[in-house]
Amino acid sequence: MNRTFRAPAAAAAAALTATTLSACGGDGGGESGGLLAQIESGQVTLGTKYDQPGLGLRESDDSMTGLDVDVLTYVVNSIADDRGWEHPEITWRETPSAQRETLIQNGEVAAIGATYSINASRAEAVSFGGPYLLTHQALLVRADETDISGLDDLDGRILCSVTGSTPAQKVKDALPGVQLQEYDTYSSCVEALRNGNVDALTTDATILGGYAAQSPGDFEIVELEQDGQPFTNEHYGIGVMKDDNEAVDAINQALQNMYSDGSFQEFVDKNIEGGVGVSEDTPGDLSFL
Ligand code: GLU
Repeated sequence: MNRTFRAPAAAAAAALTATTLSACGGDGGGESGGLLAQIESGQVTLGTKYDQPGLGLRESDDSMTGLDVDVLTYVVNSIADDRGWEHPEITWRETPSAQRETLIQNGEVAAIGATYSINASRAEAVSFGGPYLLTHQALLVRADETDISGLDDLDGRILCSVTGSTPAQKVKDALPGVQLQEYDTYSSCVEALRNGNVDALTTDATILGGYAAQSPGDFEIVELEQDGQPFTNEHYGIGVMKDDNEAVDAINQALQNMYSDGSFQEFVDKNIEGGVGVSEDTPGDLSFL
């Protein structure tokens, strides 16, 4: 490639970057505005799961329930209260595991709270408020399953998880003897488990607790440990547009409020039977990355 060709191409690339940056500048949002701009406008689009009872569930009457729904609602209302704005109207969008970063990057949602573990590769694509909850990867098995009680029993077994999730990645990296089947949603894994098409479902204990509570007597949760430690740490964050630091700070302040006024415990008691798999976390502390 000669210099006369490269120079204009470089200039064009620089111009494109400048345009993109200015469109995303200030609140860090796209055309629709970042999280804070949307809250101030009175209309905010938020992403969560639609098929995870206790965490993010769209009910048959189209209302939304679950801990993530309550946390996100609290956060946007608390941000509004701190600034003297009205509570915004929330539009919910379904955000399956594999699509979360893209939906944030495209500006299709202003923020996502969807059992969304903060990890290094995701933190390159989006920014995170939180963490607001710590849980661990576990297994769901049929209640009549007697042969699976820990990691050592998984060799040669068929495990279901979801594309783009941290538990699926962990199985691929750490358990090469396992046959992993990846579905788009955990609810389809639950049906495969019920029908005997897979031997176990692996994801966060919080999510598995929701499915177990939905079908009493059908399933059991198996905790996973390695060298006496939890197999993984899943720190749930609220994803926003990359480098929207104003939104991250505002979310973390709201999460502090949520802990200190007792709302988090209230949301856990309301949504998570027996508080299965839930520990409090430390908003703003990303030292685990
Ligand atoms: N927390 C894990 C993750 O973010 C599993 C749950 C999920 O897929 O939403 O990948």
